[in-house]
Amino acid sequence: MKALTLLSGGLDSILAARVIMEQGIEVIGVCFVAPFFGPENARAAAKALGIKLIEHDFTEEYFAMMKNPRYGFGGNMNPCIDCHGLMLKTAHSLLERFEASFLITGEVLGERPMSQTRGGLNAVLKLSADRDLVLRPLSAKLLEPTKPEREGWVDREKLYDYSGRGRKRQEELAKSFGIKDYPQPAGGCLLTEEKYSQRLKELIAHEGLNRRDTELLSIGRHFRLDEKAKMIVGRNRSENQRLLDLAGRDDTVIRPAENIKGPVGIIRGEIPDDILQTAGKILARYCDRQEDQAVGINIYRNDKKDSFSVMKPQEQFVLKWQI
Ligand code: SF4
Repeated sequence: MKALTLLSGGLDSILAARVIMEQGIEVIGVCFVAPFFGPENARAAAKALGIKLIEHDFTEEYFAMMKNPRYGFGGNMNPCIDCHGLMLKTAHSLLERFEASFLITGEVLGERPMSQTRGGLNAVLKLSADRDLVLRPLSAKLLEPTKPEREGWVDREKLYDYSGRGRKRQEELAKSFGIKDYPQPAGGCLLTEEKYSQRLKELIAHEGLNRRDTELLSIGRHFRLDEKAKMIVGRNRSENQRLLDLAGRDDTVIRPAENIKGPVGIIRGEIPDDILQTAGKILARYCDRQEDQAVGINIYRNDKKDSFSVMKPQEQFVLKWQI
C-alpha cells in the first residue's frame, strides 16, 4: 500500500506523513511549486522523514484559479480553500503514476479560520477529485471515515482527533517521534503577506498574472511609471544582482553613472522619454549624492546605452510613484 502526502514541510504535514508511515504504508511526499511558495521546507521535511519527494510546478493552473477562486480570498491574496482544493485535485492526478492508492494531508479541524473549519474542510473536498480518498490522519476520528479507513488499508483506531488552534498535542506527538526541527506554522506563503498582496493586486490590474512579474514582486522597491510601465529598484547588492539576472531582452536596465554609488533598476514595459526622466529621478533618490545635486544616469536597452543627468529629488517625489 502506498500513499501520496501533501508535504508543505510544516509540522502538521510532517506528522500526518509519519502517522501513516507508522502503519507500514509507504508514503511519498508531494510539494507544489508556484511563484508564491517553493519546495525548500518540503525538501528538508522529506529528508528528515526519509521519503521520496515529488516537486510539482502547477503555476499555470494556479494562475487560472486565482482569477476567480470559488471560495474567495483570506485576509490577503491567499485563496486557501481553493489552493488546498487544487493541490488535492492535482495530487489525485498523480496517484496512478506513482502507484499510490490514497492521499494524506496534515489539515487539522479548526486550526485555521478559513480553510480548516468544518465547512472549509468540506469545501476543500468538493474541489478535490475524489473526497473519499483524502485522509486527514490528525483529525480523522472527528471526520467521516474515508475509503482507506473503511477498507482497512489504514487502522482508524491509530489515527487522531486533534482540533483547534492549540499546538500542544502536535508538539507532544513530534517529541514522541523524535522530530525536533520544523518551520513555524503559516510561514512560507507570499500570498499571506500584506505588502506582497498589495503589489500583486496592482500587477493583476495592469499586466495581469504572469510568471516573471510575480517572481519580481518580492524583490526591491516597485514604482508604477504609467499604465504600461513599471520600475523595480534593488535595495541591496544581492537584489541588484537578482534584478540583472531576471532582466529580459525587452526590459530596460537603469543604473547610476560609473562614478556614482547607487542601485540597479529595471523597467518593464514600453517607456516614452518623459517617463524615462521620471525613472532617472526615482533612481537618483537612492544614489550616493545630496538632494538637488546632479546625478548621471545610464540607460541600457536594445543593446544600446544612453546617458542623461537629473537632480536628486526629495523623498516626497518618489513616494508619489511607489506601489
Ligand atoms: S497559505 Fe498559501 S499555500 Fe497555504 S493554503 Fe493558503 S494560499 Fe495555499
